[in-house]
Amino acid sequence: MAYQRPDIGKVENDFNELLARFNAAKSALEQTDILARINELKNEFSTYASIASVRNSIDTTNAFYETEQEFFDTNEPVIKDLYIRFYKALGSSKFKDELQQKFGNQLFKLADVSLKTFDTSIIEDLKEENKLGTQYTKLVASAEVEFNGEKMTLPALSAFMESTDRDTRKRAYIANQGFFAGHEKEFDEIYDKLVKVRTSIAHKLGYKNFVELAYYRMARTDYNDAMVEGFRNNVLKYVVPLAQKLRERQRKRIGLDKLKAYDLAHNFNSGNPKPKGTPAEIVANGQKMYSELSTETKEFFDFMVSNDLMDLENKKGKASGGYCTMFAKYKSPFIFANFNGTVGDVDVLTHEAGHAFQCFESRNFQVEEYYWPTMESCEIHSMSMEHLTYPWMELFFGNDTDKYKFVHLSSNILFLPYGVAVDEFQHIVYENPDMTPAERKKTWLEVDKKYRPWMDYDGIDYLERGGFWQRQGHIYRSPFYYIDYCLAQLCAFQFWSKSRKDFNGAWSDYLRLCKAGGSDSFLGLVKLANIHSPFEPNVFEPLFGEIEGYLNSVDDMKM
Ligand SMILES: [Zn+2]
Repeated sequence: MAYQRPDIGKVENDFNELLARFNAAKSALEQTDILARINELKNEFSTYASIASVRNSIDTTNAFYETEQEFFDTNEPVIKDLYIRFYKALGSSKFKDELQQKFGNQLFKLADVSLKTFDTSIIEDLKEENKLGTQYTKLVASAEVEFNGEKMTLPALSAFMESTDRDTRKRAYIANQGFFAGHEKEFDEIYDKLVKVRTSIAHKLGYKNFVELAYYRMARTDYNDAMVEGFRNNVLKYVVPLAQKLRERQRKRIGLDKLKAYDLAHNFNSGNPKPKGTPAEIVANGQKMYSELSTETKEFFDFMVSNDLMDLENKKGKASGGYCTMFAKYKSPFIFANFNGTVGDVDVLTHEAGHAFQCFESRNFQVEEYYWPTMESCEIHSMSMEHLTYPWMELFFGNDTDKYKFVHLSSNILFLPYGVAVDEFQHIVYENPDMTPAERKKTWLEVDKKYRPWMDYDGIDYLERGGFWQRQGHIYRSPFYYIDYCLAQLCAFQFWSKSRKDFNGAWSDYLRLCKAGGSDSFLGLVKLANIHSPFEPNVFEPLFGEIEGYLNSVDDMKM
């Protein structure tokens, strides 16, 4: 794929010209044609932005793509302003009814909701918000801690935090939190400024506080904070007790008197399940799995492999983490990861591939807004794929397959209380923007105690004072995003449950969902997928009853 830096002046001119023609158009047909041209222009621009960002993450030492990345970061507000003007034109089109017939309502809902989040008066505040977010990322990325007489990064340290030797994992845990405690004042300051600037943006746009604006920013058009509160209450009622039982089983299994914070990542004295084979063998097994799963997944995965659309191996200079993105002009998804020999490698082939598969199935929509849905819906595709591929886990884990499934299901259960705690914490913070850093930490402790009553920080001062949340990047960089994982998990569990009774039925529901892409809102997509909304009060009890029944049927003491 050839890269060239877009000429911003030309993009602006072309866009403005198309916009003028759109506004002056004499028929819906004419507007539809111009809309297609606008879409091409957006695809062209986003493709170059993706290429620059992907190449920058594959080799962070490459100065050329670093400069290109900066170019896109700097020009983001200019482009955002153009897109907003297009949405305004779309919303006030004389032919709105006909366009709605053709493209569906969701495009207009998305246009409407993004207008609620932007005004030129907040551009300087947005830059400030971005700058603070980058400051946080840089601070965490700079982390180096002493461990076993060596200097190491936090990702390198995390392997020791899962050690089967209690002393090792305790020391690693203390070293890890030591970094955050050592920079507590900076973490406090960055967050305090973020809360204030977001609150100021919300006030300028006419909102009481940042919460409502945050929901619009996430393009949530069919649920509100009261519904999310109801969801959290159900997690408290139905999931927290089950999670507590799982922690108790874990304690017995690894033979301790009391589980401390640093024991939680240690699941089995025999070690965590590990995928077998080299990265190339793991990918080959992935290809086998997707060729057996369905004709659609076979076509998708063969496309990814034959077009070299995955960069999976850990290399020097490569950025950490994993993601899925798209080169829209080429209708191609792309997967980035760092294989390291753990369960995470298989998660890439299920979770990230789930995202990529949906994108592949939605690649022919006429508007780019429908290539992906909103975030909570995106996570349904990825998380459900993790469950729908259970029948093939033997390929990766052999004799450890039951152990893998047990850990996977239990860790998904254990995630939910933490996920809603992060969400509740943010609601309280932004509803009370004048709290001091110490008051925020006290708030975290209260929320944490409610949802994770098993948490024992073993006298580590910074954590006992409520500093745990400062390691969670989403709280700084993507406010109110975290609940999306929880909502999607409730949907993914339903796919798990269905697939046990009727695999083909579950698969066809899943496929329909992926093909719908972003053409509907969250609750619309949930309905289309033939599953219950996670906001329905009676979803939790039977679903978690079934999961508990399964987990109880497993003899984990032998694992
Ligand atoms: Zn994901």
